[in-house]
Amino acid sequence: MTPPPIRVGGFQAMSLCDWPGQIVATVFCQGCPWDCPYCHNPQLIPPRPETPADCPDWDAILDLLQDRRGLLDGVVFSGGEPTLQRGLPDAIGQVRRMGFRIGLHTAGPYPGRLARVLPLLDWVGFDIKSGKADYDRVTRVKGSGARAHASLRLLLASGVDHETRTTYDPALLDNAALARLRAELAGLGLDRHKMQPCRTTGTRPRDP
Ligand code: SF4
Repeated sequence: MTPPPIRVGGFQAMSLCDWPGQIVATVFCQGCPWDCPYCHNPQLIPPRPETPADCPDWDAILDLLQDRRGLLDGVVFSGGEPTLQRGLPDAIGQVRRMGFRIGLHTAGPYPGRLARVLPLLDWVGFDIKSGKADYDRVTRVKGSGARAHASLRLLLASGVDHETRTTYDPALLDNAALARLRAELAGLGLDRHKMQPCRTTGTRPRDP
């Protein structure tokens, strides 16, 4: 039996909010190299946990998508961080060949892997954590800012339709950090960037 191209940690058969203006199914990819305190899917951070009992396997997801051809506009690969998994281009290719448009949610930790999947994508939701200098405080991983900004530049140069957004957590980004972020966004010409408030329900407890 051929192994599945990606490890899936969740599946949403229909979503109206994962790709603005599109009716999509969402595949939640398992694993993320970062560890943001406000993460709403902390169960998706470990690369190889137990597969949740209610999560269909990859073949079952393909069957479900087959049944929904003509009913959905596209399929979004979300996470976790989808580009963590080397099999992502194969998984996207399988879904594309079924006729679906493809969206990707990413925070850009792997610029090289993002570059490989960009030609397969119709839309990207790109999560900008902060200005480059403040990334490590948000992701809790050293050097994350340079990788994320390299990915962002690749996305902007690709011409792929996209949305950029930042989850704003005042415990992580003070006024000076916000000013640095705004200056970088302006420098990149991102005048329609979305700032979204951080919700604490569903996140892990923080250190006092
Ligand atoms: S990058 Fe996203 S999935 Fe990864 S820890 Fe941060 S919020 Fe969670």
